[in-house]
Amino acid sequence: MGKKKVYLLFSGGLDSIIAAKLLKNSGYEVVGVHITSPFFQKNLEELKELAEKLGIELKIIEAGDDYLEMLKNPVYGYGKNINPCIDCKAYMLRKLKEIAGNNIIATGEVLGQRPMSQNLDAFRKIEKLSGLKRRILRPLSGKLLPPTLYEEEGIVEKEKLLDLKGRSRKKYPEILEKLGVNLENLPTPAGGCLLTEQAFAKKVKDLMDNDELTWENVRLLRIGRHLRIGNCKLVIGRNKKENDLLREYSKEGDFLLWTPGVPGPTAILRCKIKPELSQIKTAAGIVARYSDAKEEPSVEVVVEKNGKLINKLLVKPIFDINQFAIT
Ligand code: SF4
Repeated sequence: MGKKKVYLLFSGGLDSIIAAKLLKNSGYEVVGVHITSPFFQKNLEELKELAEKLGIELKIIEAGDDYLEMLKNPVYGYGKNINPCIDCKAYMLRKLKEIAGNNIIATGEVLGQRPMSQNLDAFRKIEKLSGLKRRILRPLSGKLLPPTLYEEEGIVEKEKLLDLKGRSRKKYPEILEKLGVNLENLPTPAGGCLLTEQAFAKKVKDLMDNDELTWENVRLLRIGRHLRIGNCKLVIGRNKKENDLLREYSKEGDFLLWTPGVPGPTAILRCKIKPELSQIKTAAGIVARYSDAKEEPSVEVVVEKNGKLINKLLVKPIFDINQFAIT
């Protein structure tokens, strides 16, 4: 293989590690491109360390509003939950294409490893959607796949690619040894994709149904208990760390609720239009229910907006919250 640059979609998972090493050992200059978002968030410091240890350059790109647009209406639909895997992969590859120029574009995908997004049909759809027909090199399964243009152009040699197929990882130890990769010496940045998790998917769907799918709102989904009171979202901290984060994440127009004098949660009430006093009182009653004063007949709840105290409500704790659950 000649000296050429490869832009590799780099998640930091085992397959992308193998792809990076295989390409690097074959003489390519490898640029790992990691797409990050609150839906799939890895520890970026660990990821940088991993790239350094593999001897590859790393570029980190944050998914933009266009990701949310895609998520609302993916061409190829969703997987088991709200994971639009084919469109998501195509999105990521479009981002690579924007920076890769005429260089090779590659992924660590394995034929047949995932039912929705890693089969021949899905590979074709991803290529079509990303505008990269025959320009996505999948070195882990390359021997089993139709030749890419890179092979046709002679800048990739098929016999140097692997023939991995399916979910089995039986061949991995041997491959890693051949490539000179010792996983014990490498950081393994944790973090899966929340879009594949049922409970999280319900919360994303709720944002979509209420036309509230923004990154600011998505970021809140990672913390606290989430309830819906009409056109308002109530997010309640479950511990001190979350209470502090909610304060940090609150934005102009949000109501912050908390119980003065008794340990209890901090909560954000975020409404699209000005809420009724009854909605704020309901939110206060729910906040009171999670405070240490929940057995009292009434609990004082402070309501702040834009850093200013706007109300002190004396409310009865509300225990029956099923009607506010996001299902
Ligand atoms: S699992 Fe999540 S990050 Fe991975 S392709 Fe599917 S939607 Fe995208």
